Amino acid sequence: VSTREAGGLYVHVPFCRRVCPYCDFAVRTARPEQVERYVHAVVREAALWADWSEPLDTIYIGGGTPSRLAPEQLGRLLAALRASLPVDPEAWITLEANPEDVDREQVAAWRALGVRTLSLGVQSFDEEQLRFLVRLHSPQQARRAVELALEASFDVVSIDLIYGLPGQSDAALSRDLARAVELGPQHLSCYQLTVHEDTTFGRWRATGRLSEAGEDRQADMFLQVHRTLQGAGYPAYEVSNFARAPRFESRHNKKYWAHVPYLGLGPSAHSLRVHERWWNLRDVRAWQARVDAGSRGVDSSERLGAAELALEAVMLGLRTVAGIDLEAFRARHGIDLVSRNARLVARLAEEGRCRLEGGRLRLTQDGLAIADRVAGELELRESGP
Ligand code: SF4
Repeated sequence: VSTREAGGLYVHVPFCRRVCPYCDFAVRTARPEQVERYVHAVVREAALWADWSEPLDTIYIGGGTPSRLAPEQLGRLLAALRASLPVDPEAWITLEANPEDVDREQVAAWRALGVRTLSLGVQSFDEEQLRFLVRLHSPQQARRAVELALEASFDVVSIDLIYGLPGQSDAALSRDLARAVELGPQHLSCYQLTVHEDTTFGRWRATGRLSEAGEDRQADMFLQVHRTLQGAGYPAYEVSNFARAPRFESRHNKKYWAHVPYLGLGPSAHSLRVHERWWNLRDVRAWQARVDAGSRGVDSSERLGAAELALEAVMLGLRTVAGIDLEAFRARHGIDLVSRNARLVARLAEEGRCRLEGGRLRLTQDGLAIADRVAGELELRESGP
């Protein structure tokens, strides 16, 4: 675990106007007074972490729907984070927002609060797909939100898209990507639809009302997304993330992938420091009651052993286009990854799925499509045959 780089601060806002049928995040609907109580509790939780000593140079306000908070509430929250924690005055602030909450006044208020990346939960520009996902915005609203964000000159405007919806054709996916690219955001995040058991979609799958695309179809769509965006000037830097230039890549998310310490506040938020990971109570009321009673909202924690850290580093590293720095990996985890896995690496290279370049092991587009499987196949124990 690196302690050289400054850490990141995440705040989970657990409220949405309506809960989407595919969402498995810790979210719920709420009345304005519940939102206000939550803001109080985050302010309090930040103060309970006043002994956190790692410098923090990114703040990510995610959720849920952070744009449900009034700018005044966001301002109070940011001021409390700065007052209680070692937040760099120049910390890079990212805010997630849903298109239906975006208007000229809101974007101006967010800019005034120092938000540098606005991440818009567009999901699709297609009417039918938005209806299927039961989203509250129309394609026009999505486009307008992106345009307003770009006009407001955030350093980075990012669009979230979901692909791999049942029955989505190549042409439909191409259209969606083209509409996103046409608008000219600096950053795109494209996620394959995942059906989680405890969601409406999960229940539909169980009763046969919804079926997911097969593995081959998913891999084809993954490659279509990567090739199209690469061709359009948005090369991937991680399996789901694409940026027009390296300076637009997500500073905050890169900390997660590099095991840099991070502190999470709010229900369900996760944190990591050195060899320890902990997570907050998922239920908003339980988390709030704990914090109101004067304790941190932590639910549970685990110590990460050497083997777990190495496996995570491989899984996260292989999902990035930069791949794994083999010398740094050996120094940190005591494993010579390539000689330990010479046969597998040779096979993957022959199949065009990986490359050894500049002392790094990196997956190609075809390799990224199966990154998790590759990580699972790598042998991480130093001894053995
Ligand atoms: S808006 Fe986002 S966080 Fe909220 S329910 Fe829908 S998918 Fe989940």
